[in-house]
Amino acid sequence: MIKSIGIVGAGQMGSGIAHVLAAGGYDILLTDTSNAQMQKSLKVIEGNMGRQVGRGKLEQVEMAEALGRIKTVAGLPELADTDLVIEAASEDEDVKRSILTALGPILKPEALIATNTSSISITRLAAVSGRPEKFMGMHFMNPVPVMELVELIRGIATDVPTFDAIHDIVLKIGKIPTNSEDFPAFIVNRILVPMINEAVYTLYEGVGTVEGIDSAMRLGANHRMGPLELADFIGLDTCLAIMQVLYEGLADTKYRPCPLLVKYVEAGWVGRKSGRGFYDYTGDKPVPTR
Ligand code: NAD
Repeated sequence: MIKSIGIVGAGQMGSGIAHVLAAGGYDILLTDTSNAQMQKSLKVIEGNMGRQVGRGKLEQVEMAEALGRIKTVAGLPELADTDLVIEAASEDEDVKRSILTALGPILKPEALIATNTSSISITRLAAVSGRPEKFMGMHFMNPVPVMELVELIRGIATDVPTFDAIHDIVLKIGKIPTNSEDFPAFIVNRILVPMINEAVYTLYEGVGTVEGIDSAMRLGANHRMGPLELADFIGLDTCLAIMQVLYEGLADTKYRPCPLLVKYVEAGWVGRKSGRGFYDYTGDKPVPTR
């Protein structure tokens, strides 16, 4: 029976995951290497829950209870008594490997581990966790409180009780699970991120401007967001990391990351979370950076 859940990484996704799980009645311990990020995360969660109260989607008293269930902790050792840990740190295999290697010996033997990775092999990450049968992918979508889907991905060794326990949590918090096989970037990002990469090539080759490309896809393909604003929303570092996993994992040049995407990431212009990506977000309204 899962009651207490640890979340590693308090960025955009860790914050959203903490939000929906706390609202679903789970006790949350949230940790991040950056203390400032943990404080920011609590503010973001409070603000987002407040908006849900304003829209009548959450009662004020439920919000207070949910916030009371979220605690920030200094590091992995404080997750020792949790029943499940969800890893939601940066999309970097070395970072995830070091977290998972450290977690294995800390947790109770029966505790489960899930990763929110967007693209990295679940089987490979499971192998360093020390408990591959109790490990799987639980891929939430951004923004977590709004998006209904959670992709579930088994590693080669994931056992049935682990899958069932994670599947039950997804249903309990009112989300809809789909299953994906363990291949690079799973289903959603296998399709979505190459489209974003192609939009960056379209910009790179001068076929359209930032605003031209985004309005073409909003109005011409009926997408809610243009691909470049969506890239800024996801995080350009995350988009690039996913393209690299696709490129290396599938060994096909059609997944070659656009050099302009690489340049933006190298500049630290990684999208909304840093204040600048294909648009500059520091003013009243977003302004294209090219
Ligand atoms: P983010 O950059 O907003 O947050 C990552 C957080 O991880 C940062 O706060 C960072 O300080 C923290 N971190 C880094 N190393 C750490 C460590 N060793 N221990 C603890 N914390 C550490 O990124 P994000 O958008 O929240 O993405 C997190 C994960 O979720 C990635 O695997 C990403 O692929 C996945 N994901 C992202 C999206 C999206 O749209 N952004 C959607 C689904 C899944």
